[in-house]
Amino acid sequence: MPPADSTTDWAGDPTTDWTITPTADSPAAPTTDSPAAPTADWTAADRAVVEAQLGRPPRGAVAVAWRCPCGRPGVVATAPLLEDGRPFPTTFYLTCPRAVRLVSQLESEGAMAVWNDRLTADPDLAGAYRLAHADYLARRQALARRLGQDDRPLGQVSAGGMPERVKCLHALAGHALAAGPGINPVGDATLERLGPFWRGPCQPPVQAAVSA
Ligand SMILES: [Zn+2]
Repeated sequence: MPPADSTTDWAGDPTTDWTITPTADSPAAPTTDSPAAPTADWTAADRAVVEAQLGRPPRGAVAVAWRCPCGRPGVVATAPLLEDGRPFPTTFYLTCPRAVRLVSQLESEGAMAVWNDRLTADPDLAGAYRLAHADYLARRQALARRLGQDDRPLGQVSAGGMPERVKCLHALAGHALAAGPGINPVGDATLERLGPFWRGPCQPPVQAAVSA
């Protein structure tokens, strides 16, 4: 669920560099004017914040895919191939510590088993989930093109268990934040469960936090 009072923070700053050409095998390819296309900004301050969030330097991070209203990165876009050439399937990596903690709590409460049961029982949900998988691959292909990388080593592997299973709600929530609502039904529902996680612990604004 996006912060309703903060559409500019949510939408980021899409650029024409993110043009995505739909192909026959990616029916859910995002449109070029998708407001949720990952932003091209990735500053030293962003890197410092993400390193603090993760407790280690981020690997392969190339853009902020979702920025918290407080200014901090909350999801980073990761290069399909890391610096050492290894393929990295989790293109949208959830870094916001509060979101990570809340999603971990949902997982520990058995949310994944519930989702897998629903996917088995609900063909509409299963279909939407497969489209989310296609969207993920389309966004990764666009990122690979932009970076001049060859993402073929990753094949049809997306993240989070897509397209058939739910294995990691962090990856699905990261996709939902990066893509915006209506793309990943499991990620969207997970964010709904979290509520407005970006409030409270994100203060003070990032400029003060970085310079402190
Ligand atoms: Zn924040």
